[in-house]
Amino acid sequence: MIISRQKDKEDLLRHLEGKHKVFLVGCGACATVCKSGGEEEVSQMQEWLVSTGREVTGSVVIDEACHIMRAGRDLRHNRSAVGEADALMVMTCGAGIQSISSHTEKRVIGALDSLFLGNVRRLGQYEEKCSLCGDCILNETAGICPVTNCAKGLLNGPCGGMEEGKCESDRDLDCAWMLIYERLSRQGRKGVFARVVPAKDWGHRHQPGRHKIR
Ligand code: SF4
Ligand code: SF4
Repeated sequence: MIISRQKDKEDLLRHLEGKHKVFLVGCGACATVCKSGGEEEVSQMQEWLVSTGREVTGSVVIDEACHIMRAGRDLRHNRSAVGEADALMVMTCGAGIQSISSHTEKRVIGALDSLFLGNVRRLGQYEEKCSLCGDCILNETAGICPVTNCAKGLLNGPCGGMEEGKCESDRDLDCAWMLIYERLSRQGRKGVFARVVPAKDWGHRHQPGRHKIR
């Protein structure tokens, strides 16, 4: 899930300058779970926009705003309210914002910051576990990602800053390599440390990414 949070209202006001009529877009997937752009937050945003003297011409919460065709369909269903607006304010991750902007020439104002691909610990607590490097080495690191969980992204064991299992970047955090070592030990796989993981081939991380399965 993409973890997102709302931008400061001050920042939004700057982008709203000269825009008096706004159409609001939320996302029924990640932004709803993050409480940054679901039905409730869209309604709160509407109240705030009205309190600043603006008119909200309409709103829609798209099932998954990153679904480009679905986003286009939902905007078409709201054609007249979108047409009346000076700008669309989009409360989705960056992928959703770009779905919307691909369907309109109007000014699109992104209301959220996308933070990271996150796992849900429990509602409201999210943890970054994967940085989408395109060349997964979890099979060799006992299922713990050093690219993401090690502050330095080291691939071959801990740096010299590790102390009593804690990371030098933040002593409240476990050193990722300590966790990997302990789990490999429990699995009887410490031998994995005998070989050197070559430098990561970042060429596997195609940008911009494209992937077709049919
Ligand atoms: S190695 Fe880490 S960052 Fe790369 S794909 Fe695997 S989990 Fe994600
Ligand atoms: S202490 Fe461990 S987790 Fe922290 S930067 Fe060094 S190797 Fe990475």
